[in-house]
Amino acid sequence: MKIGFIGLGNMGAPMAHNLLKAGHTVNVFDLNAQAVQALVDAGARAAGSPKAAVTDVECVVTMLPAAAHVRSVLTADDGVLAGIAKGVTIIDSSTIDPASVKALAELAAQHGNTLVDAPVSGGTGGAAAGTLTFMVGGSAAAYEQVKPVLSAMGKNIVHCGDTGTGQVAKICNNLVLGITMAGVAEAMSLGAALGIDPKVLGGIINTSTGRCWSSDTYNPFPGVIEAAPSSRGYTGGFGTDLMLKDLGLATDAARSARQPVYLGALAQQLYQTMSTKGAGRLDFSAVIKLYQFEEKPR
Ligand code: NAD
Repeated sequence: MKIGFIGLGNMGAPMAHNLLKAGHTVNVFDLNAQAVQALVDAGARAAGSPKAAVTDVECVVTMLPAAAHVRSVLTADDGVLAGIAKGVTIIDSSTIDPASVKALAELAAQHGNTLVDAPVSGGTGGAAAGTLTFMVGGSAAAYEQVKPVLSAMGKNIVHCGDTGTGQVAKICNNLVLGITMAGVAEAMSLGAALGIDPKVLGGIINTSTGRCWSSDTYNPFPGVIEAAPSSRGYTGGFGTDLMLKDLGLATDAARSARQPVYLGALAQQLYQTMSTKGAGRLDFSAVIKLYQFEEKPR
């Protein structure tokens, strides 16, 4: 297929590479010229604007930081909707709020285009390996249409329901993740303060009812899981600021649904504190630092 791809960052660049590897023709646009050049070197065609990137394509993928970027890429004078042919589907894989997705899908529909939300999990490793999970929101027909394109970039392509439900799934998963990481950090720190070897405690939790991904794969206590970011100075994982962004989406969505998120709101404050202290770029498991003191508080 001929595909327009906009947003070649940590996630978008490897995703676009995988589309090329699968034999698609890919037009690319990003504000960052170096990111564009790297894709051109791999066989993509550079476009001067989102509008130029989507002229004559059969499908569009956007992978941008937040809702404001997606809105501007779609609606600017030289944006996607100004260049796209009627009937072409837009796949937005950015993580944004479900309400924005619905509003943008309505705008696209007025132009004769379908927009589906297809946020991802799997991180930059999954993007490079082509093993991402895509959580797709849209009609059954739209899902069937985008599935072959997404299959070149991911392994698990799940239809979550109507437009916006892909983002709902993504936000709810990361709500659990943000909370469980803080819970494991709290318990591991308490155990260490009370004198148990953290490796022994980690082993017990991981074979007991406290077991979860935050304890058995990504344990925040250094040395418990060798491959976890905590064992390499909290580098190279899922950034604290990205977790903070996702918890902000969850608490905003909760407000609009008049639904309480007691633990999510508290977890948001923990990651906010980390970010304010300058640790926003560290892996989010560094939240354990809030429980570690050089001198014990009285
Ligand atoms: P990133 O910041 O690395 O990349 C974003 C790219 O968008 C950059 O190259 C930037 O230049 C480009 N961009 C911004 N505004 C633009 C515009 N107006 N026109 C064209 N290009 C523009 O972000 P990322 O890590 O690739 O994440 C993208 C999305 O995926 C985010 O919504 C993020 O929450 C989500 N996500 C990220 C991860 C992860 O591990 N990084 C995992 C899952 C989901």
